[in-house]
Amino acid sequence: MIFTKRVALITGASQGIGEAIAEELGRAGSAVVLVDIQRDKLGKVAERLSSEGIKALPLVADVTRFDQVNEVTEKAIRELGKIDFLINNAGITRDSLLLRMKEEDWDLVLAVNLKGAFNFSRAVLKHMFSTRFGRIVNVSSVVGLMGNFGQANYAASKAGLIGFSKSLAREVAPRGITVNCVAPGYIATQMTEKLPDEVKKAFLEIIPMKRFGLPVEVAWVVKFLCSDEAAYITGQVISVNGGMYM
Ligand code: NAP
Repeated sequence: MIFTKRVALITGASQGIGEAIAEELGRAGSAVVLVDIQRDKLGKVAERLSSEGIKALPLVADVTRFDQVNEVTEKAIRELGKIDFLINNAGITRDSLLLRMKEEDWDLVLAVNLKGAFNFSRAVLKHMFSTRFGRIVNVSSVVGLMGNFGQANYAASKAGLIGFSKSLAREVAPRGITVNCVAPGYIATQMTEKLPDEVKKAFLEIIPMKRFGLPVEVAWVVKFLCSDEAAYITGQVISVNGGMYM
């Protein structure tokens, strides 16, 4: 897969799965716009990718903020001319049983995980319309497919992303734009590192492959969904979960 002359925008790009996606798309030749909320972390990733010869533009934005999302989208297009691939990856968890869940934890998870994807799709799509090409990949989760104890807010946001993606896929298909989801299972990142050991052990027991996934294993699927080879795939959810949910 060769992405020379392509431009990708990845949210939540300064660590974990987002960083791996940026690196994979960049290594395939795409310029990468790295969006994240913390300037220092983002700058370090941009430096590292640049040292590998990847054209990387770091832009700080909170994906929940419609105004900031529009600003960074316009800035990226001014600097790089277009956006071909949009990867809505930024996501957070605020776990607790529903009866103890604070209203702000519900609101924040929905705002980052679901509204963030709306904000960026809304901002980027009008540019994709003008080029009559685009690939949007939304990072959902196995939890959006099967639910999970203590994650009603996260599961709702990730299931919501699937409905959002399928609806958008229908709207934009005639314009040469595809919209798909990847649904990772348990991937070893800082998000999952903070889980208690007994929870990690319980996950391992239900994963037929008996290991956690690597961020790059999600990035490979995102790269495929952005490629010419995936031109006729839209409105789909591709699981990357070691068989955890079939
Ligand atoms: P991660 O290591 O926590 O990275 C997420 C990145 O998003 C962080 O850099 C985070 O910044 C950033 N972010 C958070 N809120 C943001 C906001 N409002 N605006 C912009 N950036 C923001 O997570 P990950 O494990 O790589 O997960 C990436 C995606 O995959 C998420 O959508 C997650 O739900 C999904 N996923 C992960 C797994 C897994 O097992 N790891 C499984 C299924 C799905 P801060 O660090 O400053 O918050």
